[in-house]
Amino acid sequence: MELFTPDVRLEKVEDITCELLESRGITALLIDVDNTLVSRATSELTPSVIAWMQSIKQAGISCCLLSNNWHGVIHEYAAQLGVPIIDKAMKPLPIAYIKALHTIGARRATTAMVGDQFFTDIFGARLCVMPSILVEPLSLTDLWYTKIFRKLEKKLQKQS
Ligand SMILES: [Mg+2]
Repeated sequence: MELFTPDVRLEKVEDITCELLESRGITALLIDVDNTLVSRATSELTPSVIAWMQSIKQAGISCCLLSNNWHGVIHEYAAQLGVPIIDKAMKPLPIAYIKALHTIGARRATTAMVGDQFFTDIFGARLCVMPSILVEPLSLTDLWYTKIFRKLEKKLQKQS
């Protein structure tokens, strides 16, 4: 089950500190959007997440959003945060991870994927041989197919 195991588990993105990244040699982040940065229940970026992103960027960490979402609104989130975005990513397929790395001129070994889902965010990072950080989903509101994945994730967590 190593393929679905993140390197770091945290409650929320704001717990990702510059010290943590520095200690692991991470200089760039690819970040999932839905239920990682933006709650599916409210569909709004919180001041706390916006402040976190500013501090991470100020510390020199390159960031790119990486989302399977295809709706225009995620481009508004990226604009609000001042970071590039790759949408329709089809995670866990590696192609969009590579595209995102290329977009911000980052290398796999020093870039971590941040997300709330084992089967897309974390599995994809494993396939790309990249570090990964799992956070708790911001809301229990999920797409129907995500709900199925959540059940499988719970089983996996019980085993590990
Ligand atoms: Mg997500």
